[in-house]
Amino acid sequence: MPFTGRPICSTPGRCRCSVRSAPCGLGGIGGGLGVHLLSSETFFNAAETPLLTCTIVVRTTVGPGSGDDRGEPEDRQAHVPFGELRRGAQGCPVGARPGGLPAAQGRGLPERTTQVGRRADRTGRPPPRLRGLTGGRVNPGPFGVPSDHGTASVGRVSPVLVIGAGVHGLTCGVVLAEAGRHVRIRTAERPRETTSAVAGAMWGPARLKPPERVLYWATLSHAEFTALARDEDSGVHLAAGRMAARIDLGDVVPPETKLIPDLHRCGEQELPEGFVWGYRGTVPLIDMPRYLDYLLARFQAAGGEILLASVSSLADAVAESDTVVNCTGVGAHELVGDPGVHPVLGQHVVVRNPGIDEYFIELSEGGEFTSWMPHGDRVVLGGVSVDHDWRRTPRAEISARIRRRVAQLEPRLADAEVLEETVGLRPGRDSVRVDVEHFEGARIIHDYGHAGCGVGLSWGCAFEVADLVEG
Ligand SMILES: Cc1cc2nc3c(=O)[nH]c(=O)nc-3n(C[C@H](O)[C@H](O)[C@H](O)COP(=O)(O)OP(=O)(O)OC[C@H]3O[C@@H](n4cnc5c(N)ncnc54)[C@H](O)[C@@H]3O)c2cc1C
Repeated sequence: MPFTGRPICSTPGRCRCSVRSAPCGLGGIGGGLGVHLLSSETFFNAAETPLLTCTIVVRTTVGPGSGDDRGEPEDRQAHVPFGELRRGAQGCPVGARPGGLPAAQGRGLPERTTQVGRRADRTGRPPPRLRGLTGGRVNPGPFGVPSDHGTASVGRVSPVLVIGAGVHGLTCGVVLAEAGRHVRIRTAERPRETTSAVAGAMWGPARLKPPERVLYWATLSHAEFTALARDEDSGVHLAAGRMAARIDLGDVVPPETKLIPDLHRCGEQELPEGFVWGYRGTVPLIDMPRYLDYLLARFQAAGGEILLASVSSLADAVAESDTVVNCTGVGAHELVGDPGVHPVLGQHVVVRNPGIDEYFIELSEGGEFTSWMPHGDRVVLGGVSVDHDWRRTPRAEISARIRRRVAQLEPRLADAEVLEETVGLRPGRDSVRVDVEHFEGARIIHDYGHAGCGVGLSWGCAFEVADLVEG
């Protein structure tokens, strides 16, 4: 399966690699060494353990100093097991940022479409200013936020336009902006108002199509989230817990579960009453409101711009940029006219944490199930799954059933104080869509339809989107 251009830095602080994508690390001093993942293949061993092998290119620059006075690069190719690459002693945890960034405040979006926190790139130079965005007439956006939509003209350098500021739009924005691209996000909602903000959320096995690509996206995302768990500003942490069912689901587990280091089948005594099957293991849990703030801050720090304004049509989008990334989630139903995208409603009750530190999720084909995911002082209780339901208002009867089911399995949560009830629309689709559409002379890279697994696939999809943007 081709997958190109993923930057993985082996020398944080010294890397100046620049082939296809941005270097990782502080940069700016000394010679550089960059490692670029150019392709990968998935193999399974006899025990069905997925062994991801990557073809990497190591680019060494031998020139002195910084800036453009680099020496001739030398490329070498090698096959390495994916796990080795990630565990390499010198490996830079992808997603971890030197020094860390301040978390975004409040609800994240600036009142005006200014760039916040522009920083110098790894060569020590300030990033280039976004061009083609400030001239011409400025129209008020639909939320009273200034909009210069329609002012970019042919011949000017337009930024990549990302539509949507859920987890996919923001992650794509981060990957592209940190790779040195000019990126502008247009979104109908603030990040904390999106479906992404409602998600539980855990990284976990994703039973979606196409299975090989989903496995690959999940694998890359697992590595990112594991690295991010070391940064307390990110809202990501690793937590132990159980995935359980009331019926026996057998011994065949999805291949992604091999990434869970301590996974083991639960004994009878480890399962709640009424459950006959379960596994226990440590996975990344993502506190979505905080995590979206983190992504937004990181995007803006990389020079990205975000605008609160909906996009009325694809023609509207390509009038603004010839490279558009469509991360509209269930909004793709209308924007793309994709009838295959439909809402799968979910509702959560968020309570004050009485001391829970393990997650629990019931695997069920039914529309109602039991789950809880702790995030510091909050626990997110679930869950429901209602196909083709567009309503986004919490329903009291659903919340009551969630609370009753959770209380039966975890009495400590029975009387926990309710902080909020939230509803989100999972973007259901027969298969996840990450591809390129040529539209009126422009390219639209679609990234939507991740159903109930969009958080857990977000980094892998964003890396592929970045490759598609590069062409
Ligand atoms: C209750 C619940 C629990 C979940 N739990 C998990 C979990 O544990 N793990 C997991 O991986 N996933 C989970 N999910 C699924 C996950 O939340 C989604 O797959 C993911 O959030 C989709 O992200 P997205 O960025 O594609 O879409 P969204 O978050 O819906 O964002 C879409 C963005 O596009 C914008 N937009 C749409 N149309 C337009 C337009 N025309 N113009 C401008 N902007 C537009 C919106 O304003 C928004 O900013 C859960 C979902 C729910 C509802």
